[in-house]
Amino acid sequence: MISRKEVERLATLHSEEGILSAYIKVDPRLRYEPSQPAVKFKGALKRFARRAKDERWLAVAEREKDRVLSFLEGWDASGRGLAIFSCEPANIWEVVHLGVLVPSWVSVDTTTNTALLVQVLDEYPRFVVAVVQRDNASIYIAEQRAVEKAAEVQSHVPGQHDKGGWAQARFQRHIEFHVERHLNKVIEELHQLYYDRPFNRLAVGGTEETVNELVKMLPEPLSRRVIGTFSVDFKHQTEDEVLEQARELLHEDERRSERQLVEQLVDAAESGGRGVVGIDDTVRAVFEGRVHVLAVAEGITKEGSACQNCDYIAAGDFGRCPACGEEAEKIPDIVERAVEGAYLTGAHVETVFGEAREWLLARGGLGAVLRY
Ligand SMILES: [Zn+2]
Repeated sequence: MISRKEVERLATLHSEEGILSAYIKVDPRLRYEPSQPAVKFKGALKRFARRAKDERWLAVAEREKDRVLSFLEGWDASGRGLAIFSCEPANIWEVVHLGVLVPSWVSVDTTTNTALLVQVLDEYPRFVVAVVQRDNASIYIAEQRAVEKAAEVQSHVPGQHDKGGWAQARFQRHIEFHVERHLNKVIEELHQLYYDRPFNRLAVGGTEETVNELVKMLPEPLSRRVIGTFSVDFKHQTEDEVLEQARELLHEDERRSERQLVEQLVDAAESGGRGVVGIDDTVRAVFEGRVHVLAVAEGITKEGSACQNCDYIAAGDFGRCPACGEEAEKIPDIVERAVEGAYLTGAHVETVFGEAREWLLARGGLGAVLRY
């Protein structure tokens, strides 16, 4: 998992000698193909060479190429992607492992190209779990599949043994006052976390009474982030078991929003609105800069061709570009190029799983909500 702080550090790296930034998509189903990352890198390098206007930067790419290749050839591919920043003369070598989908992309400049990294990280939702008791709470944050404890809140709440000579009703109010104060502290922590690392989903677990009370007390925007609650048996459940319950809520919610996304774009496409489905139509919309959200069925790849001159890309082998007449070359995966195009035009990219994936696959595996 990469933190925002780490991204900020990477963004400050600078060298007049030129830094190569490389992003490499890892296809989990091609893991048995050990040359996969190197092939992706070479392809991205070739596309960079075609775009690059500055001879100097081409020389930098050439200078750094072997270093990156020898790393990739010895690398046991894992996760979903990699970012590499390399400048031999300035002794810069940074490898970032990513659990999210990135397009394979190479660029050279005097600074690292972290824009894509920032975008990809923003795309990946943060999930927060608050496990609350009347005098105790643990707050966890999950991003890129890793979970960490973000905060622990402990309060003193008087118990039955503290009762002394108090009248029952009055004592009860006294306890409630302390519980409420404790829950306010928990909310304070959640707020703090929200401003440090904005999250879009929150699950709350604990005993029913405390959970309900906390949820009732949550102000906006926290309350809008609640995706569900779950009950915890504090005597018998381990931390892992508790987090597993939260993860199930997360998965249900993710599947739900993926279904909504695919429904939205299929409805729009079929009614002539701002939606498109199918590989070729979607890819075209991406390169016309019209895509707002690109939906990709998990794991889909499609061979195609790309014009060597303009941006024209389509599935299959079209020989000559129908747009400009220039010769086309075959490319192994036009879906990846669509993802790249989407990121470069500021679109969101959503990978969809489960039922939404099946729906989308039945329509080619690619679709988009359009800006216009
Ligand atoms: Zn063309």
